[in-house]
Amino acid sequence: MGIATINPATGETVKTFQPLTDEELNRKLDRADRTFKQYRRTMMVQRSKWLRAAADILERDRAKFGEIMTLEMGKPIKSAISEVDKCALVCRYYADNASEFLADIPVQTDASFSYVSYHPLGAVLAVMPWNFPFWQVFRFAAPALMAGNVGLLKHASNVPQCALAIEEIFTEAGFPSGAFQTLLIGASQVAKVVADDRVCAATLTGSEYAGMSLAECAGKHLKKTVLELGGSDPFIVMGSANLEAAVSTAVTARMLNSGQSCIAAKRFIVHESIAEEFQKRLLAKFKNLTLGDPMSEDTDIGPLATPGIREELHEQVAACKDKGAKVLIGGELPDRPGNFYPPTIIADIPPGTPAYDQEFFGPVALLFRVESIDDAIALANSVPYGLGASAWTAVAAEQQQFINELEAGAVFINGLVKSDPRLPFGGIKKSGYGRELGVQGIQEFVNIKTIWIGH
Ligand code: NAP
Repeated sequence: MGIATINPATGETVKTFQPLTDEELNRKLDRADRTFKQYRRTMMVQRSKWLRAAADILERDRAKFGEIMTLEMGKPIKSAISEVDKCALVCRYYADNASEFLADIPVQTDASFSYVSYHPLGAVLAVMPWNFPFWQVFRFAAPALMAGNVGLLKHASNVPQCALAIEEIFTEAGFPSGAFQTLLIGASQVAKVVADDRVCAATLTGSEYAGMSLAECAGKHLKKTVLELGGSDPFIVMGSANLEAAVSTAVTARMLNSGQSCIAAKRFIVHESIAEEFQKRLLAKFKNLTLGDPMSEDTDIGPLATPGIREELHEQVAACKDKGAKVLIGGELPDRPGNFYPPTIIADIPPGTPAYDQEFFGPVALLFRVESIDDAIALANSVPYGLGASAWTAVAAEQQQFINELEAGAVFINGLVKSDPRLPFGGIKKSGYGRELGVQGIQEFVNIKTIWIGH
């Protein structure tokens, strides 16, 4: 795929971009390397000032940045603007807390003084997806820059204007030229960058396939990686749950970002005692969702980001239908331009369909009924993924059992799975490894140095 802005609501190619030549790429890697040697010496307080300036710019131009996102990948404008605000929040969070997170830790030994200290590694490559084109980048960049690393961004090929705008934000904020650079390159050029001696580590958010491919190359060159990959998060509702709150949250959890979120709830696993009522209320709420122009404030669901994503989703739905699953609403391609897909609910899904082991990346809810908490947990854990899980119950013992037994990087009880700068974020199993955000996130790309001073 070429690097281009293609409006997902119309299919129109708005602008195309040339990928960097080998020579241009080489110059950027050189600049990153040279900048790091100076940047690592900057004081934390200076880095904080620049990061706060980046937050100010994000807040000042929130509408402009929101529109670029909506134009390039189709998310409804309301959520695009909130995404910009969240990026400002993560900048301020690390500007305020990084010095505490990376403070020396004294340890008593036979030395006159010994301690653990955190040092930057160098240039870190971030390979990022289009679904949260600002948030994914800022949640990498804010801690990486505060830790004294420099950032190289290879963004998804369908969001080049977002990628360029983000580099401009860091430049305008005052970071030295080369502290954060966007590399307009295709996926096929990533291996070359990972292998380069001037790059010391890499993080990738995206599909399993891309993660495996990056990790394989990084492994060959002994470089540290963090991988944030896909998910098929369960949303479990037990008989004692507050049903209205659970149903309302279920809609948000599935429809966020038009269903294209790694931590969207994808499988709704409901206790049989309330399953009929849950289904009835969910269906009523899905009927009220507005599909349409993502630039309109009234739109709940915009187009999917690319024709390929819509095609894959529709094939998954068709595979469930062919094996006898019941489509309660949606499931048909609308007759209009753009990559629109209607809100869809599938129930009575037989085993052996993609609903049991694949991620559905769009506005499709998969409904399952279970007879017990053990069955709910077994079904929840039966997928290859382990990103987030939401479980709804008023019974304390059940809450604890979900916390202990759900195989996921995060368990939210009676709430929506969401990312928060203060809490670590990441998965297990085929959802990846390593953590972003929180104190753990900033400690992924640092040299944890042991210091021992004799008598
Ligand atoms: P994708 O195709 O894997 O693309 C993600 C990034 O990886 C893009 O920059 C892409 O570049 C690059 N890429 C693709 N193949 C590559 C390869 N072989 N080697 C190196 N880089 C490669 O994923 P997507 O379809 O855009 O994004 C959706 C996926 O991301 C979903 O599975 C979703 O769950 C996951 N995701 C996970 C998280 C999380 O935090 N866990 C957050 C958001 C999304 P090109 O665009 O140039 O191909």
